[in-house]
Amino acid sequence: MATRETRSTCPYCGVGCGVIIASDGPTITGIRGDPDHPANFGRLCTKGSTLHLSAAPHLARQTRLLQPLQRLARGGPTHAIGWDTALDLAADRIGSIVQANGPEAVGFYLSGQLLTEDYYVFNKLVKGLIGSNNVDTNSRLCMSSAVAGYKATLGSDAPPSCYEDLQFAQTVFIAGSNLAWAHPVLMRRLEDAKRIHPDQKWIVADPRRTETAAAADLHLPLLPGTDVALFHGMMHLLLWEGMTNPSYIAAHTSGFAELRDRVREFTPRHVAQVCGLREDDIVQAARWFGGHTPTLSLYCQGLNQSSSGTDKNTALINLHLATGQIGQAGAGPFSLTGQPNAMGGREVGGLANLLSAHRDLGNPAHRAEVAALWGVAEVPAKPGKTAVEMFQAAADGEIRALWIACTNPAQSMPDQTTVRRALQRCEFVVVQEAYAHTASGEHADLLLPASTWGEKEGSVTNSERRISRVRAAVPAPGQARADWVIARDLARRLERRLPPRSLDGTTMFPYETAEQVWNEHRESTRGRDLDITGLSYARLEQPQPWPYPSGATSGQTRLYGDGRFATPDGRARFAAPLWRPTAEPREARFPVSLTTGRLRDQWHGMSRTGTLGRLFAHASEPALELHPQELTRQRWQAGDLVQVSSRQGKLVLPVQPSESVLPAQAFIAMHWGPEYMTGLGVNALTSGARCPQSGQPELKHTAVRLVKAELPWQLVAAAWLPEDCVLTTRERLRAMFGRMGYGSCVLFGREPATGLLLRAALGGPADAALLDDIEDALQLAQGPVLRYADTRSGQRRAVRLQADGSLQAFMLAGDLASQGWILDLLQQGQPAAGFGRALLAATALPPLAVSRHSRQVCACHDVSEDSIAAALAHCSGSAQQRLQTLQERLRCGTECGSCLPALKAMVQTAPVGV
Ligand code: SF4
Repeated sequence: MATRETRSTCPYCGVGCGVIIASDGPTITGIRGDPDHPANFGRLCTKGSTLHLSAAPHLARQTRLLQPLQRLARGGPTHAIGWDTALDLAADRIGSIVQANGPEAVGFYLSGQLLTEDYYVFNKLVKGLIGSNNVDTNSRLCMSSAVAGYKATLGSDAPPSCYEDLQFAQTVFIAGSNLAWAHPVLMRRLEDAKRIHPDQKWIVADPRRTETAAAADLHLPLLPGTDVALFHGMMHLLLWEGMTNPSYIAAHTSGFAELRDRVREFTPRHVAQVCGLREDDIVQAARWFGGHTPTLSLYCQGLNQSSSGTDKNTALINLHLATGQIGQAGAGPFSLTGQPNAMGGREVGGLANLLSAHRDLGNPAHRAEVAALWGVAEVPAKPGKTAVEMFQAAADGEIRALWIACTNPAQSMPDQTTVRRALQRCEFVVVQEAYAHTASGEHADLLLPASTWGEKEGSVTNSERRISRVRAAVPAPGQARADWVIARDLARRLERRLPPRSLDGTTMFPYETAEQVWNEHRESTRGRDLDITGLSYARLEQPQPWPYPSGATSGQTRLYGDGRFATPDGRARFAAPLWRPTAEPREARFPVSLTTGRLRDQWHGMSRTGTLGRLFAHASEPALELHPQELTRQRWQAGDLVQVSSRQGKLVLPVQPSESVLPAQAFIAMHWGPEYMTGLGVNALTSGARCPQSGQPELKHTAVRLVKAELPWQLVAAAWLPEDCVLTTRERLRAMFGRMGYGSCVLFGREPATGLLLRAALGGPADAALLDDIEDALQLAQGPVLRYADTRSGQRRAVRLQADGSLQAFMLAGDLASQGWILDLLQQGQPAAGFGRALLAATALPPLAVSRHSRQVCACHDVSEDSIAAALAHCSGSAQQRLQTLQERLRCGTECGSCLPALKAMVQTAPVGV
């Protein structure tokens, strides 16, 4: 069959890169960046460039939810049912709960990964048909503080800048964003800008020395939660040094006097003490911000995921308003969206406190407009429950049914103990998902198979307000259906079970295509700040930013250039927030500040990225990162298991030294959930404390206590497995986590060779049945396997060699002096036969030399840290010349470029070679 090409959009981050999907019949065979897409001009990062691999049919067979499933008893097995039965069941249960307990007894929890069309139908279903506002999304965990910040100051939820501004800015102030990992293609664009304009200054405010911070001209390693104090301090300096723009302030803003009073006490000395920074660095940051202009701020979860998230946003926007650094090329406060369609969800009002097209629930005129558009008498005025409130209400028995679509709250929500209580207590839980094995799915009474990237039609909006089409390249597998279709079919059934809402008696959900949904959404924007009435699906052949009103020939890339803002008087409003510490400050019982964040090559709960061995190579296992001094102080070694406790819960993790965190701080990647390790994952620890204005929880900071976990009996097992069963094997092993004190299970290798690595630890020897089960899963139970066992002391070893003498699989259990070199042997495919009995002894040192399996740096060309270090020993000249030589020799950093910041850092720190 001929290869077909389909233009679409990457489903991961908010950069919104255009992709071209190659497909052959029902199979996606390739991916490349769309050279004509204005977000990425052909570039993709490690995640985007492996999309086709994650869509492989053999993976789909192991991971996808392919038919509706019903679970008759919680914790019990599921059985397949037909779509009509499933939707009738759902409508009966939702309908009867609404009839008996009112519309607020049901909650819908959606996702920033849904397409705008999906979001639109769900929002109308809940607010227009069911008659409550209990619809919220995981965008609440991601962007709601940015929404509240924009609305409080600029009057509208509209990021004023565009990606092109990266190349015009003289100063780029990056606050609470690890751009290099979270938005890699924007980092490439920023690197291009700096190459062309070497005097462009990068300031990074981040408690961690991330790869972004390491690449900056100035890194401000502020203490967690002190951002408002830093921004007030910079404002103080701008005033003191005469770098504000009084004529702009007078002509286009209000409220400056109160802010000026507020920042009076924020002297450099005071701010340095509060933030843990050097006074000189704060002064330098303010001078570049106000004097080396235009200035662009890029910010993300470090500001948003905070109990003072809105204040952090407004305090930063204040700096732009006070200096007039907004609405012109290279200037503006630019929030970066984490998810691919967080913006689209906001546009259709898919949050508990919003209505369609940026209308407000609290505004009676807005409610009347939406009711008229939908053909209903009214939409409810009472705000719905935001994400954390929704799960709390379910845990308290107030919400009796939860509908979860395209997200995994049992992994991603803070305070997992409450989330689990909510899922257990709810009378009816529906999980509408593409993937079969999410933690949330385990709690579902009904699982509905949804289509996903490569199979769906619709649209998304990226961080710069640019709307792109998402197109289907292949049909959805099994019985999976588009999310909006599932919502529509539920809605049509509910129309027959609930009191009539449609004023003309016809269905409110007449759509047969995604385009019809989008056309209705388009009409809802008429006359609004995001007016897209001049657009159509056909015009979206070329992605366009909003607004794009009727009669326009292109979308508007920059907003507020005329100094008129979306407030009633047209003036932007300064905010004067107080600085407040984190909700859980460090104290004697919880003396360590834990922060969370992204890994470079993983996405959220890893439902998709976690199916590819190669995407584990950069950060291969769950870990608690601590500063090396902290390890020395505690007398811990890398890999030691530590129990992390917060006020919310506990988690056991291996420690890993990292220079990127300061002493008394710790870091855990946000991706590690119960699908990959024992316990409830990182969010067992995080708190539901949230910003009072935005409702966004403080995922970025939790006070924790660390103690060594006493789990002396250890197990490490690894195997190369056939690609058509490696993921089902992982699920088998995951089901054994409950029998372990600590356990983790991850992939390794590059497709098609995929390996599985299991680690476990217990307080004493594991029972033989657990070891038998592990051996069986890893195909170590039968055949030519070398064995050693001492049942009294709980020692057991099993090793299988391949025909070529390399290791196929092993399991080492008991008191393990070292397992590292045996794992290296297996992962490197080195000959192992000569190691003889040492394989079973698991000695500390190998009897023969083994080449180390070091951390991967370049994912595209599989280049490791050790090989880069070895090559650098022979690279001479300037840093730029050495980088070039390195790239010529190893090809690292020549494909997607995601590893360039790491390569540059290695070049900077390595001795000049000969
Ligand atoms: Fe996808 Fe990477 Fe582009 Fe984000 S930067 S949209 S993850 S390719």
